[in-house]
Amino acid sequence: MLDIQSIRKDFPILQHTIYNKPLVYFDNAATTQKPKVVVEKIEDGYYNVNANIHRGVHFLSQAATEAHESARKKVQQFIQAKSSNEIIFTRGTTEAINLIASSFTDEFMSPGDEVIISEMEHHSNIVPWQLQAARKGIALKVIPVTDKGELCMDTYKKLFTERTRLVSVTHISNVLGTINPVEEIISIAHQHDIPVLIDGAQSVPHIKINIQELDADFYVFSGHKVYGPTGIGVLYGKENWLEKLPPYQGGGEMIATVTFEKTVFNELPFKFEAGTPDYIGSTALGTALEYIEKLGVEAISEYEDSLLTYATSQIKKIEDVKIYGEAAHKSSVLSFLTGQIHHYDMGMLLDRLGIAVRTGHHCAQPLMKRFGIEGTVRASFSFYNTIEEIDIFIAGIKQIKKMF
Ligand code: PMP
Repeated sequence: MLDIQSIRKDFPILQHTIYNKPLVYFDNAATTQKPKVVVEKIEDGYYNVNANIHRGVHFLSQAATEAHESARKKVQQFIQAKSSNEIIFTRGTTEAINLIASSFTDEFMSPGDEVIISEMEHHSNIVPWQLQAARKGIALKVIPVTDKGELCMDTYKKLFTERTRLVSVTHISNVLGTINPVEEIISIAHQHDIPVLIDGAQSVPHIKINIQELDADFYVFSGHKVYGPTGIGVLYGKENWLEKLPPYQGGGEMIATVTFEKTVFNELPFKFEAGTPDYIGSTALGTALEYIEKLGVEAISEYEDSLLTYATSQIKKIEDVKIYGEAAHKSSVLSFLTGQIHHYDMGMLLDRLGIAVRTGHHCAQPLMKRFGIEGTVRASFSFYNTIEEIDIFIAGIKQIKKMF
């Protein structure tokens, strides 16, 4: 059991009032709030441990290097990867997907080769592939989504051709909350000898990940969605795949030797970390992962599921509310529209009540098109949210509905 009231004290922003109303922060799928330990780690990094890493012989440089590399080990242990060489720090999910799109296409794809994605992808798992389509002539195949918001697995199986080179899908939809059957997706792809990239931006904060059991070839997530800082994220890749991929960017750190005639690249993981990395961010991400590990990821999942179940049952009692995303397996996200009320109006008016939700297309315009809508109102929950906050939210929707 989580002690929510004591947990909330770790997040100073949650004590804020907005327009004289207590803040109800339901925009956790966009970014999470930070516990004090994470912010203190950033402060401590800059005040006490700051020096550029890896190349310095002096004390502070070695201490900063040690902090960065132990954060890498923390990530490795958190997702249960085999080796810390498989953990590459990036700016976030978006950069990690762009890295794979660029390096994988360069090495393994020819014009006409295909990547399978899904209709529920965030733009960051669509556009990088479209850029490669424009540059290299690769093609996209799309797994459709059912009315309930689940992937059509039968169609998925039929999308494989002799030109398929990679599958890239999200673990949890940031709009529908659907938890996709990634184990099955990966195992089907592997039967065709095709590697799989999983976008874990919405899953790592909510469910336990055992990357070796999952057998994903690439897995990516963002620090800021998992209670860590902005500007830092993770690309996990199986060592044998990362070894085969060419570097994404060139610069310092990623080289072993450089002459004007020839450059020899550094070994993993540094081959993919050109330039000075965000070593303060990585260290604070390590602290964020320790924080949620201490609470217990299973306990977090269980509690957040109870919030989602309660919110869903309460919102269903309101006339004219339509929920988008009714998958059998869902996590922490409640997308909806209320009668003819525009999602933007609902979001603005909820804001006046101190309630932060997201409105719009949630960077998933193809999914909006699939459902024939422009956008939704999205409430997304974290372990620091409460049943009382859901009651305030439900009362807010009812109040706004009366105004229309
Ligand atoms: N994929 C999914 C499923 C997301 O929810 C998000 C963030 N909304 C991203 C990718 C992109 O993450 P970031 O902006 O942190 O790179």
